[in-house]
Amino acid sequence: MSTAPRLTIDLNALVRNWLKLNEYSGKAECSAVIKANAYGLGIEPVATALSKAGCKTFFVAMAEEGARARAVAPDARIFILNGIFPDTLPLVLEHNLSPVLGNTDQIALWAKNPQGGACAIHVDTGMNRLGLDVEEAIDLSKNTDMLSRLNAKILMSHLACADDPDHEHNTLQHENFQKCVNNFSSLEYSFANSAATLSKPSFHYNLTRPGVALYGGEALNDVPNPMQPVVTARSRILQIRNAKAGEKVGYGAEATLTCATKIATISGGYADGFHRALSGAGVPLRDAKPEGGNVWLEGHLCPILGRVSMDLITVDVTDVPDQVLEQAKWVELFGKNIAVDDAARACGTIGYELLTSLGGRYVREYLG
Ligand SMILES: *Cc1c(COP(=O)(O)O)cnc(C)c1O
Repeated sequence: MSTAPRLTIDLNALVRNWLKLNEYSGKAECSAVIKANAYGLGIEPVATALSKAGCKTFFVAMAEEGARARAVAPDARIFILNGIFPDTLPLVLEHNLSPVLGNTDQIALWAKNPQGGACAIHVDTGMNRLGLDVEEAIDLSKNTDMLSRLNAKILMSHLACADDPDHEHNTLQHENFQKCVNNFSSLEYSFANSAATLSKPSFHYNLTRPGVALYGGEALNDVPNPMQPVVTARSRILQIRNAKAGEKVGYGAEATLTCATKIATISGGYADGFHRALSGAGVPLRDAKPEGGNVWLEGHLCPILGRVSMDLITVDVTDVPDQVLEQAKWVELFGKNIAVDDAARACGTIGYELLTSLGGRYVREYLG
């Protein structure tokens, strides 16, 4: 039997999350952001399940991702957030993808391409990443000939601070976006990521663009997460050993046991996106609160001991009753019992990064 860690991806929970975000979106259409391999979960199964549920518009980062989505969503609108370049144009045309145009070069390229389908226009309202300046967007709005040649359907912008709904930068970006909206006519407008879909109806406009919330991640800071977990990561127990007080655990001999400790060594490590920063190394163990992460074993939270290595993680199972330990074969790294965002916090990052770091070694199984 394989010792590869497992990801169980609950497509029914994914669909329930999309339906919920669709409800939050009110009159606006709810799209789905499936970039980065659908946040690590698999573009094809995710796009298939969401299409069946009624999702008609998808956003990916790169043309290659768009081509994969097209194979399973033949009738959907698929937008490429990174825009268009001379060398990605053939792939975009071949798969009937729609670029999100973010500068005048891209606009010129799309305008002179006679086969071009629909596109979106990106305006940068306060992130300084991608998109036209507000002034450039307003200029474009006056060039109706250019707009019809482009077959522009959507005007969109992206928020920097939506996870904090009271952040004043949201207001500034909203004002900038509204200025553009006032100048265009007969486009769809799209402004809301997951956080704004959940918290700001006035940001919904015509089309919401949730990503992380679909996959069960936390989009908003400091409020209970209304989404259902979609992904469970599990790892196999390879060996259990009894160690004595004073002994060391893991690389660097960084963790010193302060009492007799039962240790389970589990398969998987930082090569599987289970970041090294989750290590419980370097802190006094057991009686003190370890600062590293935990895994879940049949109702018991087991602290990680020593450094997370490339393929192995050592965890403290001293408190797990023997009969549970004898039967246990797998531990949960995150999922229904340890929220992905709690695991992410323990390694100093966010759920987005943990999900998209999961890597190729997992056996992925899909429910639903
Ligand atoms: C990633 C992304 C989204 C989705 O953001 P979430 O926070 O995951 O909901 C929406 N719009 C754009 C432009 C993005 O890059």
